[in-house]
Amino acid sequence: MLPRDPRHPSLLSIVVPLFNEQASIDALIPRVMQVLESEGLNAEIILVDDGSADDTWDKMVAWRANHENLTLVALSRNFGKEIAITAGLDVTEGDAVIIMDGDLQHPPETIPAFLRRWREGYDIVYGVRRDRSEDGAARRAATKAFYRVFNRLSNTPITPDAGDFRLMDRKVVEAIRRMRERARFMKGIYSWVGFKSTPVEFDVVSREGGRSSFSRSRLFALAFDGILSFSTAPLRMAVVLGAIFAGISISAGLYFLGRTLLLGVDTPGFATIIVSTLALSGLILLQLGLMGLYLGRIYEEVKGRPLYLVRDLVGRAAAENAEPGAAARRHIKDLVRPPA
Ligand code: UDP
Ligand code: MG
Repeated sequence: MLPRDPRHPSLLSIVVPLFNEQASIDALIPRVMQVLESEGLNAEIILVDDGSADDTWDKMVAWRANHENLTLVALSRNFGKEIAITAGLDVTEGDAVIIMDGDLQHPPETIPAFLRRWREGYDIVYGVRRDRSEDGAARRAATKAFYRVFNRLSNTPITPDAGDFRLMDRKVVEAIRRMRERARFMKGIYSWVGFKSTPVEFDVVSREGGRSSFSRSRLFALAFDGILSFSTAPLRMAVVLGAIFAGISISAGLYFLGRTLLLGVDTPGFATIIVSTLALSGLILLQLGLMGLYLGRIYEEVKGRPLYLVRDLVGRAAAENAEPGAAARRHIKDLVRPPA
């Protein structure tokens, strides 16, 4: 028997996290279906409701009534996009998995291009925004600065402009699924797993409806989170700074000792003492705070809570049987309340 062509997806999975996307969902599903149909793809679409407060879930259920290939997951509350994506990945069964936003900013028409590169042998095909002119100049500058700082501090370099819109081979998905850390900085996680990857350009369009969940402060928190998750350089800086200050104080000590021995005691010097004391205690507090940040994260991870809780699960994955999603399904099944 000939080996099955591993690069022909007998099943493609598409994961879409949704948070208050009632305005987009009715446009999203037909567009995705259209692409799947014209490409003749056998696909499952996994919609993850990340604790929406609007009618997102009801709309999902309504679409599911006529579309067998939809799998619906509802998380018990809003866990954030990163975790919603993880929940989606956990139920995928496809040979290749595509992640895309639910607001149609990631055009489904890019999917064939993703698949082409995957068939060429790439394990990760990531979407790169063709231009960022839709963002303001300030945001573009901030984004650029973040990538520069991140890549300077971390051993896991991340590619600017590559986001969650991507295709991943089954083996990449399985690798990512093994990373159960709570602080999920996806850009770092995608990069950490490695594998052969290649970009594909796409045009970002305006949201289909609703509004972005990522405010400026949430983006800043995300950036900060990312650095703390993928770099311990700030901790090492403490050692360097400590060494520098130790060096300065030893030389200063020797200098003042010599001066006193040669020239005798003189009283002025309060300013020096006060300034150096202030500077040093400031630095100590800063470093203590930094240690606290890392400690807090250790605490979060060490509690070992589940990453997410599932409120409802509708679709293929609800059935038992078949690898490789089975383990996750069993896990999810434990969390889903039994049907009434
Ligand atoms: N999203 C989510 N949980 C959240 C925030 C966002 O699942 O807590 C989803 C959202 O529904 C969308 C995608 O993540 O499908 C991207 O979110 P958004 O469009 O708000 O981000 P932006 O495009 O502005 O970066
Ligand atoms: Mg968006």
